[in-house]
Amino acid sequence: MISEYDIIESDKQHNGGDTMKCAIGQDSHSFSQEPDRKLILAGVHIKGHAGLLANSDGDVIYHALTNAISGITSVNILGKTADLMCKAGLTDSSFYVKEALKSLEYKIEHVSFTIECMSPVLFPYIDIMKENIASLLGIDKKNIGLTATSGEGLTSFGKGYGIMCFCLITVS
Ligand SMILES: [Zn+2]
Repeated sequence: MISEYDIIESDKQHNGGDTMKCAIGQDSHSFSQEPDRKLILAGVHIKGHAGLLANSDGDVIYHALTNAISGITSVNILGKTADLMCKAGLTDSSFYVKEALKSLEYKIEHVSFTIECMSPVLFPYIDIMKENIASLLGIDKKNIGLTATSGEGLTSFGKGYGIMCFCLITVS
């Protein structure tokens, strides 16, 4: 005979007793035609490459991260809040991540990023990007995953029109 208590206990096991959550964030930008526009990814200035079209610095990695944090907190930052911050002169996207973190009442266990673009080649920058993300979130670098792919040129990102990033965050 299954009691009401057994059902509640079984539900707790299935959802981890509400102690762990995951959320996904995504963002994409196309490359700007402006020659002076800087390409900033996870706070790293990648020299000699076209920048991304945006009101802010267009840091697609920090934007995906901001959206992933919002996926946990249900407090959206990109859009209205970030636009207002941008108008106030805060165009460095690390400010949007910090704004999203203000509502986060969980400990960040892990963040995983996957980036799709034809160029730039991101391999030489992965370590420094992880360092920036680690210090921004106050977590160890070993809890950050970051991969990049050209997706075999099947999408606009793989064809070189811009960059897309997904971020999965795990908190407890
Ligand atoms: Zn964005």
